[in-house]
Amino acid sequence: MEQNINSYVHKLLLNHINPTSCCIDATCGNGFDTVFLAKHCHHVYAIDIQDKAIEETTKLLRINSIQNVTVIQASHNQLQQIVPIHTKVQIIMYNLGYLPHGDHSIVTTPKGTVESLTQAIELLEPKGFISIILYVGHEGGQQEANAVEAFCVSLDKKAYTVFKTEYLNRLVTPYVILIQKE
Ligand code: SAM
Repeated sequence: MEQNINSYVHKLLLNHINPTSCCIDATCGNGFDTVFLAKHCHHVYAIDIQDKAIEETTKLLRINSIQNVTVIQASHNQLQQIVPIHTKVQIIMYNLGYLPHGDHSIVTTPKGTVESLTQAIELLEPKGFISIILYVGHEGGQQEANAVEAFCVSLDKKAYTVFKTEYLNRLVTPYVILIQKE
């Protein structure tokens, strides 16, 4: 079992990435998820709204000599404008909230995240995955989690399989939702 939710998600996704996959990191932050994806797939679109995240991700990619990533400063609710039409996307990762050690006022929101997810499920290939790590400890976090869950509950069960996984013996802790397109 993984003690860390990010490692848990990476391990799960590893079974579903292959060298021909195209992936999206919708909130690239410090670049850890982007580097993970890039090491296992063909191409990654790494998106974040803030300068610091773009700088940190670009730096981490350089340190790891990774070149198969397009880093884009934008809001994740513009996914369909950012990713070229007809791109076959296998995995879309969301790690919500704010940048650790960064500006806590730049934070994902219920409206923006649901708008982004609505576009993400359209871009996803059959058998593709969306992973969402949700944080409820900061102001607005619980509202965002509620909105994301309401969106997931509304998905047709014949078209999407949705899992929620959480640590039960921890108090305020991030948890993960996985959506697979049938
Ligand atoms: N995946 C990152 C990593 O591996 O380091 C961690 C992401 S961090 C928890 C959340 C990120 O979401 C922050 O970098 C923040 O700037 C970004 N963010 C907030 N609102 C956003 C938006 N509307 N569109 C894209 N990114 C956003």
